[in-house]
Amino acid sequence: MLEKARSVALAGHVHPDGDALGCVTALALYLHRELGKEVTCMFPDAAPENLSFTLNPSLKYLWGETCAADLVILMDCNAFSRTEALSEALGASSAPKVLIDHHLNPDSQSFNLVFSTPEISSASELTFWILKAMGWDIKDREIGEALLTGMTTDTNNFANSVFPTTFTMASELIAAGIDRDAILRKIYQSYRENRVRLMGYMQNEGLVILPEGAAYMILTKEIQHRFGIKEGETEGLVNVPLTIKNVRISLLLKEAEEGDHFRVSLRSKKGTSAQQCAMNFFNGGGHENAAGGKLFPGKDLGGESLEEYVKKALLSVLQ
Ligand code: 5GP
Ligand code: MN
Repeated sequence: MLEKARSVALAGHVHPDGDALGCVTALALYLHRELGKEVTCMFPDAAPENLSFTLNPSLKYLWGETCAADLVILMDCNAFSRTEALSEALGASSAPKVLIDHHLNPDSQSFNLVFSTPEISSASELTFWILKAMGWDIKDREIGEALLTGMTTDTNNFANSVFPTTFTMASELIAAGIDRDAILRKIYQSYRENRVRLMGYMQNEGLVILPEGAAYMILTKEIQHRFGIKEGETEGLVNVPLTIKNVRISLLLKEAEEGDHFRVSLRSKKGTSAQQCAMNFFNGGGHENAAGGKLFPGKDLGGESLEEYVKKALLSVLQ
């Protein structure tokens, strides 16, 4: 497919995270620099400011629009629907389509070639192994940095979804001279004060703990405005309640700036399925222990209050 393609479109999911930005950037750099392809990176909406360091100035990025290409590669999501506003144009393209992903339930029939590996840390790790199989020698630092960044954010710095191959990848990249300390500083030590203040407030005032082993927080628009919170700055908040011994699942509802819905983030400990909860109650999915979705109160609640619905959803996976 690559031999026949002069131009390649690479796309990632809505609200791009470090993994989506990292693997799309890395593969685009490889295809352009090593194979001479004309490449365009596409995302439905902008990258959060705190992850803008993952973008490579030598690449062309489109935010919220697509352009024609001879080959389409979808990365770090299991279906075109996860690219929301881009979904229709990408799906309707007559170009061959490739999926490179690590989520459950890939929409395989929409693609000509599928790399789907749920037993891996990240789409960035999967891309690392694909590039290695294609003969990449890790000499291009910028490709390596993008991949190490994506793996690091998706594993929460080696805290979850880590496999033996994940350490091998990290080891090879660090041995090749990638500066992991610099990457960690950019990801975890470059936030604004607003984020730390909000995290403290939510843990004090916003955290509800259910004795059955669940926790939830509701982050309204009002609170986001009060703390001047920007896209990407609540990253990590949903993980905090899981540090409590008997909390097995944690949920964060974040009221969307536009539209009448909440964005849902779920994290769970082994043995409890965040993915089932996201799929059954929040129009979403993801991984067994890290999932997400959306809640449309006007449509989904069916007469229950927001709190009642959330409790029911959480308790349903705690049997
Ligand atoms: P986060 O809580 O970090 O936004 O997302 C956690 C995981 O759930 C990620 O792997 C992400 O791809 C997945 N996820 C988040 N939102 C959605 C959604 O609306 N639909 C689906 N299918 N997966 C989602
Ligand atoms: Mn990912």
